[in-house]
Amino acid sequence: MTTKLNLDFISSLIEKTKTFLFDCDGVLWLGKHQIDGALETIAMLQKMEKRLFFISNNALSRRMYCEKMRERGFDVSVEQMISSGFTASQYFKQNKIDNILCLSGPGVPEELKNQGISFRRAEEFVNQPFDINKIEIDPKIQAVLLAKADYYTYYDIAVISLYLSNPKVLFFATNNDPTFPIGSRFIPGCGSMVSAVEFATQRKATILGKPQIHGFTQLKQRHPEIQKEETLMIGDRLDTDIQFGNSCGIQTICLLSGVTSEEEIIQCKNPELIPTYYTETIKDFLDEKN
Ligand code: PLP
Ligand code: CA
Repeated sequence: MTTKLNLDFISSLIEKTKTFLFDCDGVLWLGKHQIDGALETIAMLQKMEKRLFFISNNALSRRMYCEKMRERGFDVSVEQMISSGFTASQYFKQNKIDNILCLSGPGVPEELKNQGISFRRAEEFVNQPFDINKIEIDPKIQAVLLAKADYYTYYDIAVISLYLSNPKVLFFATNNDPTFPIGSRFIPGCGSMVSAVEFATQRKATILGKPQIHGFTQLKQRHPEIQKEETLMIGDRLDTDIQFGNSCGIQTICLLSGVTSEEEIIQCKNPELIPTYYTETIKDFLDEKN
């Protein structure tokens, strides 16, 4: 059962909540378009001295993500950022997984470096002319990590698949988002790369970003004062944000400002994906009295 939030109830929910986890794309902005009321809501919660974190399946580094948010006018710090690239790097460090082969944009290498984890990039191995039988196999590689890359080729996928033909090499991805919206259109997300490699290798990637709960588990290790009962996840996608919040055992709000419609929420039969509450947009958080 889910409940459409009424505006009076939102104030009491804000009152009771000490920690807010905000998904970003679809909640604070949609592609290039800033969502009305986002800046004001974040500023209002900051003034109320709430703990705020921003948890995104975008694999940028925390530093890059923080810069992106500041450019959009949010007064935030690196420590408040939880990108899937950061979560993945922390996971490797905690689980003593080193020597990663990555296919990604620049965010993942920056985070791996921050954690002192060695890595190589798939493109380093692509030979000219391409000959799969002459590609060097680095025996130190323990795991593959996929994150959305703007520039990658068929040959990069071939290199990644070659390494994964060794069952001892672990297979990870920052996230499995099939798409994300840009204006009224969408572009393929990291899930499109994951599917290509899964299909070629007949292996299944372990996802480290949402809906997996590593981001929250790690956050609680950094902030033991965070209590589940006083934490709220606000997102726009059922199979990432809401499933994540439900698996963490925290309350969830799905906003209709991103990829999910009211019909999808009402018709959803999978309890793992049903939000505690839903409402139109982040603007509904703004209490004129604050
Ligand atoms: N993956 C990539 C590469 C993205 O750029 C985005 C949004 O910008 C997402 C996933 C989804 O991000 P979020 O979890 O903030 O909705
Ligand atoms: Ca989102």
